[in-house]
Amino acid sequence: YGEFNHKIDYVFKVVLIGDSAVGKSQLLARFARNEFSLDSKATIGVEFQTRTLVIDHKVVKAQIWDTAGQERYRAVTSAYYRGAVGAMLVYDMTKRQSFDHIVRWLEELRGHADKNIVIMLVGNKADLGTLRAVPAEDAKEFAEREGLFFMETSALDATNVEPAFLSVLTEIYRVVT
Ligand code: GDP
Ligand code: MG
Repeated sequence: YGEFNHKIDYVFKVVLIGDSAVGKSQLLARFARNEFSLDSKATIGVEFQTRTLVIDHKVVKAQIWDTAGQERYRAVTSAYYRGAVGAMLVYDMTKRQSFDHIVRWLEELRGHADKNIVIMLVGNKADLGTLRAVPAEDAKEFAEREGLFFMETSALDATNVEPAFLSVLTEIYRVVT
């Protein structure tokens, strides 16, 4: 993507939030580098990754922020949310608790972020469908009630990862232009 560097039209900051181990870092690895790792400790410490793409003939640099493990200690700070125009609110569809905690993450997000932020609720690990603990209908209803987009994804087999990020980025583009 280097050849586009001289003519970036927009930079959109998008933050990943949600409980530890729901797959945030792997969703980012899949979207930014088309990679996946079953042992993702290797990615800890990375602040954000970028991917440049074209939306409506404009060059958009998506800057996707990862918590780098801080969510374990509830130490995600306001600096993390500063300037964010999009958020991926991620739970693990095989772990009910990670979905029940979404209300808290949403509260925290709304307390820190811009009120026009575009939010996508993401039910990750869809490849483990037989272990499903969160009905898609529950998540869909919650998302509708709260005005969020919703998709189920798999960072492992790449299902819906591209559409989830692209929907958020396209909606951000619509909002800011
Ligand atoms: P984070 O703490 O939210 O950043 O979660 P990670 O991205 O580190 O993922 C936690 C664990 O879940 C790792 O072992 C990943 O390999 C695994 N994982 C992440 N996404 C998926 C997925 O879509 N399917 C499956 N089966 N495992 C996943
Ligand atoms: Mg992580």
